[in-house]
Amino acid sequence: MELFFRKDLLEYREPGHPESPQRLAAIIDFLEKKSSNRFNDFEAISDSELQNVHSQRLINLVKENKFFDPDTPNIPDIYRYACLSAGGAIAAACKALDKCDACALIRPPGHHAGREFLGGFCYFNNMALAVRHCLKTIKKVAVLDLDGHHGNGTESIFKDDDNVIYISIHQAWAYPGTGTSSFSNCYNFPVPAGTGFSDYKICLVEAIGLIRRFSPDILGISLGFDTHINDPLLEFCFQDSDYYHMAKMIASSVSMPAFIILEGGYDVQSIGNAFYCFFSGWKQIRK
Ligand SMILES: [Zn+2]
Repeated sequence: MELFFRKDLLEYREPGHPESPQRLAAIIDFLEKKSSNRFNDFEAISDSELQNVHSQRLINLVKENKFFDPDTPNIPDIYRYACLSAGGAIAAACKALDKCDACALIRPPGHHAGREFLGGFCYFNNMALAVRHCLKTIKKVAVLDLDGHHGNGTESIFKDDDNVIYISIHQAWAYPGTGTSSFSNCYNFPVPAGTGFSDYKICLVEAIGLIRRFSPDILGISLGFDTHINDPLLEFCFQDSDYYHMAKMIASSVSMPAFIILEGGYDVQSIGNAFYCFFSGWKQIRK
């Protein structure tokens, strides 16, 4: 699996905010300590490519720092960082178009951002931008959202799009309160607080079945580690080793190339090893 990361994504911060640079730094430190992983570079997304998903109004609000959202801080230069993050997602998707699995280790996350709105620490929707980029050359993409929150932004962008299915497993009634039922091409698996991997796995098997039936050219995975037992924002009960089994299950059950995009996960002590477990599990099955 090819990894995409740029050091400047660690530059911005909002004091006291859970979406800290330490999260991503912990993942990178762990990968560097455990093995000699090379990180691929990438460029920021262009203005015109942002318009494939977002309204010009939202793009301008972020560019000109003219927005207010308590969760999604108005940080100087956040437009540049959000464009870089989306660029990483697109670079990973391009690798998948070349039939090679890839993972974008990026921040800010994206799955709560919709065409017209930002929110939930997300400015632009990295996954949606990557999927739209893929759909210029291929026909079908499945999105599997394994962050512990529902990806309301991604769902709203792709609902009723015949070329995409959106599947999410998330904690019921947690932020943002959406994803309570399935409709059209959107498949939602809300699970109760306290869910561990043994129960989660039942939903994951169903999700994999949906992907296999849809038979996409490419699979995009929104990967979050806020399903970890130590996560401060949600109440899942995953242990580090569960991410190893989760990755093995997915990698062994589907055959299409996959790109993975980092979304949430806010326990700085756990996220490094949790990601490393996922990465190791994936590499057990596919390169
Ligand atoms: Zn999340």
